[in-house]
Amino acid sequence: CGIVGYIGHGTSVPFLLDGLRRLEYRGYDSSGIAVIDPKGVQITRAVGRIDQLATAIAEQKPSGPLGIGHTRWATHGPPTEVNAHPHQGGNGQVVLVHNGVIENFQPLREELIAKGYVFHSATDSEVIAHLIAECYDELAAETDPEARCIQAVRVAINQLRGTYGLAVVFPACPQMMIAARFGSPLVVGVGRGVHYLASDASPLAGHTDRIVYLADHQLAILKANDLTVLHRDSGVVRHDIQRLETE
Ligand code: GLU
Repeated sequence: CGIVGYIGHGTSVPFLLDGLRRLEYRGYDSSGIAVIDPKGVQITRAVGRIDQLATAIAEQKPSGPLGIGHTRWATHGPPTEVNAHPHQGGNGQVVLVHNGVIENFQPLREELIAKGYVFHSATDSEVIAHLIAECYDELAAETDPEARCIQAVRVAINQLRGTYGLAVVFPACPQMMIAARFGSPLVVGVGRGVHYLASDASPLAGHTDRIVYLADHQLAILKANDLTVLHRDSGVVRHDIQRLETE
């Protein structure tokens, strides 16, 4: 029910954990983070309070400059650790967190299972992860690795019916995070050498007061020093940076 993301320098984990705590008021039953560095992806998930996740993080000590996090309000599948986000697609080409409900997840899931994709959870969200992985594999002829990831997300979300706020990362492109929304809110925070992502502005307070509100059908391509906003179908759109009012 809440999303956070960080791409910058040092480690993303303190922002992710603190951000998830600030989104607690939205309600949740489980939570998790994925941290990516050039060596790979580390996923930590827990059922129950954010304190449970904090304990798991203290044990596993994930660290890296790119990370995504999620608090889950279960709609498809019980609140278990396997159903907690982040979810991986394909052979781990894709890692994502999702807020919302995918209405056509059942036919998509059946198609993907018929093609050999193995599902680990009962969530509608895992369908998105495998769908993006499939699009990514089909775009093997694209020689620009970042363009391939972005295009895979655009093609995949075109097949979704329902609502989504998404934060997607590809271990093959550890310098980039892709956000996309339809029906679930997402904001980007612009910092110095860092970009933040969140379901609402509350995790950004104290980090930056420069905010970009994403609109439905928009994607954001976040890098440490760069932000691009795209319309799902028509490509790059101009974005306004607004000042967050702080009292
Ligand atoms: N429908 C997804 C699930 O059940 C996401 C729920 C949410 O928005 O937290 O895992």
